[in-house]
Amino acid sequence: MTLVRTQNTADNSGNGTVNGGERGTAAADLAEAFDPARFQRAVEQCAVRLRSHLDDPEIKGLDLIDPSVLTKTARDLMTAERVAIAPFDEHRLARIVDLYLSTGIQVHSPGYMGRQFSGTVPLAGLVDLVGSVANQPSSFYEAGQLPNVAERLMAEELAPLIGWDPATSAMVTTSGGSMANLTALLAARNRAFPGIWARGDAGAGVRPAVAISAEAHYSVDRAAGVLGIGEERIVRLPVDAQGRVRPELVGPALDEAERRGLRVFCLVASAGTTAMGAFDPLAEIAAITRRRGIWLHVDGAHGASLLVSPTHRGRLDGVAEADSLTWDAHKMLFVPAPCTLLFYRDASAARGAFRQRASYVFDEEPDAYSAYDSGDKTLECTKRPMIMPLWTLWSVYGPALFARKIDHLCALTSQAHRMLADEPGFTVLHEPEANILCFRYDPDGLDPAALHGLQLAIRSRVRADGRFFISKVDIDGVAALRVVLMNHRIDAGHLALLLAEIRATGNQVLRERAARDDKDGDRP
Ligand SMILES: *Cc1c(COP(=O)(O)O)cnc(C)c1O
Repeated sequence: MTLVRTQNTADNSGNGTVNGGERGTAAADLAEAFDPARFQRAVEQCAVRLRSHLDDPEIKGLDLIDPSVLTKTARDLMTAERVAIAPFDEHRLARIVDLYLSTGIQVHSPGYMGRQFSGTVPLAGLVDLVGSVANQPSSFYEAGQLPNVAERLMAEELAPLIGWDPATSAMVTTSGGSMANLTALLAARNRAFPGIWARGDAGAGVRPAVAISAEAHYSVDRAAGVLGIGEERIVRLPVDAQGRVRPELVGPALDEAERRGLRVFCLVASAGTTAMGAFDPLAEIAAITRRRGIWLHVDGAHGASLLVSPTHRGRLDGVAEADSLTWDAHKMLFVPAPCTLLFYRDASAARGAFRQRASYVFDEEPDAYSAYDSGDKTLECTKRPMIMPLWTLWSVYGPALFARKIDHLCALTSQAHRMLADEPGFTVLHEPEANILCFRYDPDGLDPAALHGLQLAIRSRVRADGRFFISKVDIDGVAALRVVLMNHRIDAGHLALLLAEIRATGNQVLRERAARDDKDGDRP
């Protein structure tokens, strides 16, 4: 006997009945919201809007709207119906989509230069749509079969680029780099202090500590805090002017920590710092951590993707010596957020992060199916099948798509560096190692406080204008302007426009200040 699903006819034109049966029954009331034909029409309408969004030739980094105004606009789009299911209103849906697309950062516009979120490959979003409708959470094979297989396949593709054997290493996806850093630190801690998961402490008088780059992302400090390590037990490793850990100072810093009675179990290096995109000298650092039996975690949230590029992968020389690696695909692999890959050199370490039994999900004796589960390696239970957009793009286009875009963005950033170096009134703060570049507008040789204020004023005025979206970061205590080039549609012309806008804005701020100072000077 075959079971045939009742066909939805999508004919809603009847007389009090819809395709689920008599109106008033739950099935009938719900039928419209679940109607496949309606869904298809909505997707088609949405696709038209997305296409014009992608085609939009205007430079528009961000249209920052007063949150109270946006709240009111959004509230006006909400149905007032509070008893029955509101009838579907396609105009309401269209206005919601339009509002969504027009607010927030515009990653597809060449004016978007401020953040590390991807200028996504649009097709990746299509796969997200499929995943959202099919809803196959991915921690367990039986729920998300293809996502779990795709995770294995991506690990097989990417582990060799790190220098690891897919057969003995492991990879798990996490919702963001912050979560991956936390998970890696947890695995490192459990390896160093095997009793800690059961007892809750490392043993009498033992003070677990971590050593991190002074330029480490704030999520590393947070992870340490969550693990109960305490800010005072975070050893900060000095960096050079480019933002790279100075390897010759690592040994002395660890010796000093030991003298203070700290047990450093993990060192976190960066492969692409958030501020300047600096790559720590991993091989030299690994030689030290190896000798001392310290877990080396590489936070490659931003920069690990350079491994895909034959031109740029040398930046990560030595990464094969690490114990774990955080790799955000939602940054330089151009898929929607979140999609983070956490790699472990030794597969058994991955399970070491969580030493638990839960009979409703974990099988004591994995069978052919549950052997593919990843739930034992992640903090998350229900998890988005976030690998699917990445795996699909990789399957459809191959790795060269990613390498081409990475190479182009890095070359563009070098070009921006050359332009800035030639531009009077600008100071560039470092040689870019990837696609992040920090600089200041400083036509008058201002003192640090005034220089700081000028950069902040420029950044907020440029953002308010909305054509360009750039960010700011403090470097040695003084604000700097920062561009992150994630969009390959940016060209030299856009960069020149940006510099002109910064110059004009900066000069305007300086004129206003001078006028104000004159007025203050006139006061009796
Ligand atoms: C972006 C970033 C993070 C945080 O990752 P999320 O995916 O935003 O949680 C961590 N470390 C570095 C170096 C980053 O650039």
